[in-house]
Amino acid sequence: MSELTVVDHVIHGRESCPSTSRSPIFNPATGEITRHLMLGGSAEVELAVKAACKAFIGWSATPPHVRARTLFRFRDLIERNLDKLAAIITAEHGKILSDAKGEVIRGLEVVEFACGIPQALKGEFSEQVGNSINAVSFRQPLGVVAGITPFNFPAMVPMWMFPVALACGNAFILKPSERDPSLANELAALLAEAGLPDGVFQVIHGGKPVVDAILDHPDIAAVSFVGSTPIAEYVHNRGTAAGKRVQALGGAKNHMIVMPDADLDKAVDALMGAAYGSAGERCMAISVAVPVGMKTADALIERLEPKIRMLKVGPGTEAEAEMGPLVTREHADKVLGYINTGVAEGAKLVVDGRDLNIQGYEKGFFVGGTLFDHVSPSMRIYREEIFGPVLSIVRTESFDEALNLIDTHEFGNGTAIFTRDGDTAHAFLSRVQAGMVGVNVPIPVPMAFHSFGGWKRSLFGDHHMHGPEGVRFYTRLKTATLRWPKGIRAGAEFVMPTLS
Ligand code: NAD
Repeated sequence: MSELTVVDHVIHGRESCPSTSRSPIFNPATGEITRHLMLGGSAEVELAVKAACKAFIGWSATPPHVRARTLFRFRDLIERNLDKLAAIITAEHGKILSDAKGEVIRGLEVVEFACGIPQALKGEFSEQVGNSINAVSFRQPLGVVAGITPFNFPAMVPMWMFPVALACGNAFILKPSERDPSLANELAALLAEAGLPDGVFQVIHGGKPVVDAILDHPDIAAVSFVGSTPIAEYVHNRGTAAGKRVQALGGAKNHMIVMPDADLDKAVDALMGAAYGSAGERCMAISVAVPVGMKTADALIERLEPKIRMLKVGPGTEAEAEMGPLVTREHADKVLGYINTGVAEGAKLVVDGRDLNIQGYEKGFFVGGTLFDHVSPSMRIYREEIFGPVLSIVRTESFDEALNLIDTHEFGNGTAIFTRDGDTAHAFLSRVQAGMVGVNVPIPVPMAFHSFGGWKRSLFGDHHMHGPEGVRFYTRLKTATLRWPKGIRAGAEFVMPTLS
């Protein structure tokens, strides 16, 4: 084994080394191995759960406004360390630095929401529901909860979960992606610096063995998952069978309808960022453009094609780069395979990103911006999530035909329409079968004080993430009926106290 640094678990505040197996971490721009990751299993999960159960006792008894103060300090630390955090993300994920900073800021906004937890946890009170009787409802933390996260947002997705979970009084165990795991340890270090007690936030690295140990552990009350649909469904089924509360967000195929009345230049700019930003490795990326009318389609492609050819692809650390590499060689090969499939299926390859060669980065995992026209709903490149810089154009004749495409697709994460017509926009908003909808906004990611989640096979479970839904997910309701001494009657009661 080389001299490279090892990324270890964070159990009870310490980086400790019980695991024996390791996996390599790559720099996607150079293709080089930069670090190694400890891979845990049920033993590490057991250690973390024990520490979390103990830490939960003190943390859940800490008043919400005092818990919020720790999060305020954490918030400031993130802001001060923004450049460092973004550099860690770019080094392992590959996305450009400005985009890496952007995801940290979106995560920071959830921390800011969580700082207001005393307000969000305020209960309900009814006076005089009977003679000298009051009723009160309030929410309490669940206990030990866990988050399992994907590679594509190593900061933002964990931060959709743990700030709210911690603010509500839970202890949290994070299982980040094996592909870009270092940021999780950095977040653990900043939480510790902010004063979070040991054991309240822990990180266990690894793959399926860690996930399964989390899903089966009787002392873990709830699991939040974000990743691909097959694993989301598996996590939901196994976790709920074990009696846990589970929210599992899955994959996506997000469509953007372009109406004939849309401002085409703005629609094209929107598509460039939404399809090719972060090399298409976003669950809210637009991967299907749906122009209505053949003239709209031709005009759209005429404007898109030169822009895609001019995309500046390069290492995420280079200031002028607009799009970085894909996360691993394996993933880049999968995306290249889909481009071959699209050609074989008979779609028209307008811009081919397969033969990209970046000088000095020949071993990097780069795929260029790719555009397919005349894609039909039966093709695999339309039905399946590619998760790369590949945009498909599906031509339609009417708004209803375009809407029907979205509504009959397996996924229902995000969607958008570009139009200047209020009636069309309104019809789209009210009829479309997707969880997050944009009108002239290509990537309608909800703010932290709203909640994030898709429909259909993009989400398994009942709760979306962060915002009010996050608070509901990480707490349970208790309702009490209180009778004050002067209302207590002598003698046995055989009817409900509120009736007597
Ligand atoms: P993934 O499903 O491969 O991995 C997600 C997590 O599950 C990781 O922590 C991984 O270690 C674990 N995992 C992988 N295989 C497993 C198995 N067989 N059993 C148990 N656990 C397993 O996803 P990814 O490639 O890291 O991320 C990309 C996917 O995530 C895309 O499908 C994307 O759409 C989705 N995503 C969805 C959202 C959303 O909000 N809906 C947000 C971000 C990413």
